[in-house]
Amino acid sequence: MDNQYDVIIVGGRIAGASLAMRLSRQNLKVLLIDRGTFPSWPAVPSSPIIYPSAMRLLEALGFAETEYACPEAKVTQVVMDMMGKFQATFSTELMQLDRNYIYGIDRNKFDTVLWERAASLPLVTARDNFGMTDVIKDDNGRVTGIVGRAGERAGERAAERLYANLVVGADGRFSQAARKFGSRPFEELNDYPSASFHAEWENVGRYSETMQYPAALFQVGNGYSLLCIPLGNGKYIIANYLRTADVNADGKKAEETYLENLQKAPRLREQLKNARRVTPVVGVRRIDNGYRQAYGDGWALVGDAFHYESPLDGQGIYNALLASQFLAEAIAEWQAGKSWLEAGATYQQRFYDSSIAMLKQTVKRVKQELYTSPPPDFVVNTLIRWMLTDPVYQQQFLRYLARAIDPTTFSFAPTPGPIVRGFWRDVTGRRNGREA
Ligand SMILES: Cc1cc2nc3c(=O)[nH]c(=O)nc-3n(C[C@H](O)[C@H](O)[C@H](O)COP(=O)(O)OP(=O)(O)OC[C@H]3O[C@@H](n4cnc5c(N)ncnc54)[C@H](O)[C@@H]3O)c2cc1C
Repeated sequence: MDNQYDVIIVGGRIAGASLAMRLSRQNLKVLLIDRGTFPSWPAVPSSPIIYPSAMRLLEALGFAETEYACPEAKVTQVVMDMMGKFQATFSTELMQLDRNYIYGIDRNKFDTVLWERAASLPLVTARDNFGMTDVIKDDNGRVTGIVGRAGERAGERAAERLYANLVVGADGRFSQAARKFGSRPFEELNDYPSASFHAEWENVGRYSETMQYPAALFQVGNGYSLLCIPLGNGKYIIANYLRTADVNADGKKAEETYLENLQKAPRLREQLKNARRVTPVVGVRRIDNGYRQAYGDGWALVGDAFHYESPLDGQGIYNALLASQFLAEAIAEWQAGKSWLEAGATYQQRFYDSSIAMLKQTVKRVKQELYTSPPPDFVVNTLIRWMLTDPVYQQQFLRYLARAIDPTTFSFAPTPGPIVRGFWRDVTGRRNGREA
């Protein structure tokens, strides 16, 4: 039958497109749909960095870096600007991994590359501008298909009924598929609600004479931080992380708050003197952290639909690619004879075990960066400076972000090693060469 598939995937970006690629390798007939059209930005705004961990998974899917990233957006230095009081430069070489750099990526291009690759595969039927409006269930409540419509928002086309042995929701953090399947969050860590707003800029001044394209994190204190990431072709994305309650503080619009906050980091203010904002300010007002039930009778969730988190540590793309790998492997076990509910349970647990420690650390960082009063100046100028300019701390931090160490072994608070070494550097007058 023309309308019968092995797997229907709702959502064709990172999680959905990568899953389609993996399933086609497993000889499964896949329908991949997205209500958006490509090229396009993700509907849920994202200002992305990727680490070697994600690049490795992209390589496993057959992508060369040149296909999805721009050479100018290859970042080898990360600057942490501590409330304008000092700057610490982290060289990504310290990661000591197979790739010692990170990338700022243009999601418009990146998502399109993934979608087009999936769409080019013989076993994948890819339909963009085609939205799922409902799911079909049999008398036992088992999901057996979807109702979809081309140009869904306009609602001008007749609905189509499409069937599959498994329907996967890869439709992002506000997943409609999850609601229709009846999936509920089984764990959430939402004590520190945060928001993120960003826009793209051109003609941004250099961070310094010696650094061409660093990624710069400006700790402003008082519940704000700012991130400036190169995207290539002269463009930067500048993001503002803040507490949810501060987005509309004093009745301001989100855009007004964003533009005001950009002025709070002196060096960034300088860089923006002749810069031009080239996109609207977009963002998410409340970014929840948690997991939804990821499998059930005839269905599964993957990517942000399954696991949603604060973007502060930049783990979303890696997690979406990893979950899609785990889901493809669970589907293979199911095809080999395991029951879907058993294979699905293994998938959910496996991904949870791989991500929960990192999520807990990210939430701690949200608390520390946005919900903790800034330390007094003398602490910033001693303990915090010693810590952030310590090469061992820098290495651990970068390896933490790149998922190269157990996240629970990394501490954001000053620990004796960096303090003693920093104190000694000050006493002997030997400043770390990495201190800008
Ligand atoms: C502000 C912000 C900044 C971020 N920064 C980073 C970062 O620096 N690094 C990083 O790794 N991650 C970052 N992330 C996270 C990252 O963007 C997500 O983890 C990633 O996009 C998840 O991919 P996905 O494929 O699961 O979902 P999405 O990218 O959200 O894609 C879901 C797709 O489903 C489609 N869809 C939805 N409903 C339907 C429907 N009914 N029918 C058909 N299609 C549908 C949508 O059109 C969309 O194309 C950030 C997130 C936010 C919010």
